[in-house]
Amino acid sequence: MQDALTTLNNIFGYPAFRGQQLEIVEHVAYGGHALVLMPTGGGKSLCFQIPALMRPGVAIVVSPLIALMQDQVATLQELGVAAACLNSATPPDEARDIARQARAGTLDLLYVAPERLLTPRFLEFMTQLDISLFAIDEAHCVSHWGHDFRPEYQQLGILAERFPQVPRIALTATADEQTRLDILHYLKLSGARVFLSSFDRPNLFYQVVEKHNAKKQLLDFIRHEHAGASGIVYCLSRKRVEDTAQWLRDNGIPALAYHAGMGHAERESNQRAFLREEGIVMVATVAFGMGIDKPDVRFVAHIDMPKSPENFYQESGRAGRDGLPATSWLCYGLNDMVQLRQMIEGGEMAALQKQVELSKLDAMLAFCETASCRRQHILAHFGESSAPCGHCDNCLHPPVTYDATVAVQKLLSCIYRVEQRFPTGHVIDVLLGRQNQNISSWRHEQLSTFGIGKELNQRAWRSIVRQLVARKILQVDIARGQSLVLTDACRPLLKGQESIQLRPLADDKKSRSSGANDRWLRTEREERLWQALRGWRRQVADEHNVPAYAVFSDRTLRDLVEKKPDSLSGLRQIYGLGELKLARYGDALLGCLRRAQDD
Ligand code: ADP
Ligand code: ZN
Repeated sequence: MQDALTTLNNIFGYPAFRGQQLEIVEHVAYGGHALVLMPTGGGKSLCFQIPALMRPGVAIVVSPLIALMQDQVATLQELGVAAACLNSATPPDEARDIARQARAGTLDLLYVAPERLLTPRFLEFMTQLDISLFAIDEAHCVSHWGHDFRPEYQQLGILAERFPQVPRIALTATADEQTRLDILHYLKLSGARVFLSSFDRPNLFYQVVEKHNAKKQLLDFIRHEHAGASGIVYCLSRKRVEDTAQWLRDNGIPALAYHAGMGHAERESNQRAFLREEGIVMVATVAFGMGIDKPDVRFVAHIDMPKSPENFYQESGRAGRDGLPATSWLCYGLNDMVQLRQMIEGGEMAALQKQVELSKLDAMLAFCETASCRRQHILAHFGESSAPCGHCDNCLHPPVTYDATVAVQKLLSCIYRVEQRFPTGHVIDVLLGRQNQNISSWRHEQLSTFGIGKELNQRAWRSIVRQLVARKILQVDIARGQSLVLTDACRPLLKGQESIQLRPLADDKKSRSSGANDRWLRTEREERLWQALRGWRRQVADEHNVPAYAVFSDRTLRDLVEKKPDSLSGLRQIYGLGELKLARYGDALLGCLRRAQDD
């Protein structure tokens, strides 16, 4: 049997395994069953691809989405690995050819969708093969609790019955206990070793900003921090997806939309463009993203607050799978919270489920409002303890809290004076002493609190309201026109028995740049090399009809620019350059580097 490290070096061109990869690879290569829980970008694919290459026979990989299979297969073929996929889009003669190769033992990996694998015909076909292992990707699809339940997944236990000798490895990025138990149960993996990795994503930089003009804030963020990069923007509604994509396009950013209300063909074509082309920003609802394993997504932006820390972690985790710095940017406001609350309270769920969802929403708000390290906060939510990360917004610019007791007292008494029957906007109008129709029809200009809050502006007042809601000093009564109401926690504040510290309004410019984009400052010469290599990569990708990252990752290009190798042995030291790629592209790369430096 080929040794694992040799396979990693020669085929994939990577110098070393990461985290638990080696342990997993060896466990499976020697015939063990495994359940692998690893965060997005952790490198799950290698955990089955390498054992598949080490063991004799063909590995059967179960994967839920055609686009994903195609991308993994394209990447493997670029590495010179004999991989193929069978799906509804495969022409019959091609399918026959693939089947022949599998029988002949010349295929290393075969990707199939679960519904095909479960047909009697395919089950019978598999008995004619020498199977090295079964890999079940996105294994959380087995669970009702998971976010992507697929009933066929629950029948995959049949593999254990029919092929008890073949090692099975299930993989997912969803860590919760219930999902894990479901996977072990339905896939009959009771004897499997469980590999649970840390969910930390050290290359992901968290930034949270307060919403005042989300689209404009988004545009500024993209322009200042990730101009020209691929990214995903998540919105709460379909309408907002369309508006935002249009707004970005109007401002010269190549944006596409994706939501469940669009036609199938358009959705597919947008997804494909996003995967294949460079620098596209995908504006989407949460319908987009499962298993999007594009490695070079440089940012994930939420312009509305996600409904739980789990959703937030999962969605932002789609950035930076290649390990290079990436940003998770979240823009939120009180209205987001109100809207999400409304959706939950008005939904069809059972009472208990509503309670769970509401508490997740509270946890999400707490993340947004925290003054301590974002990463520490989110990992703590998943039960992991860690040190402050040093490059989230709060670590870079620790918020200095101030004594806000007087302002808070003004706000609370104003809410009391309007009898807890008005929403935030109206209460703030009273504080600021604004004359408008609503104010005069309620005669609120006669209240003692009218105009007592002019020392702060509207944004500052909103920020205070949000922090008080997050601390449960105030509540928003959804059933009664989103009125602000006081809770019991108000009393000591109003009576002057307690003081309160709050965060001042964040300065947008200061919270900017968590360092995700300026880690690597290229010299002019390096910039020239970089552009030349990217152009060359684009051309090769087009010729082979694969995404650019299947030819070489950004990380490889960056290593080339930094080391500027001028010989084949120099190229051998480059990240991501395996033997096949060296043979195939070595001379062309050296030529490209030489020309760009001579210019
Ligand atoms: P996951 O499926 O866990 O989200 P992938 O398997 O797609 O992650 O891997 C993410 C990226 O990291 C890919 O570009 C992959 O080639 C790269 N990668 C994985 N393992 C290693 C390693 N040991 N060294 C270098 N790069 C790696
Ligand atoms: Zn931090």
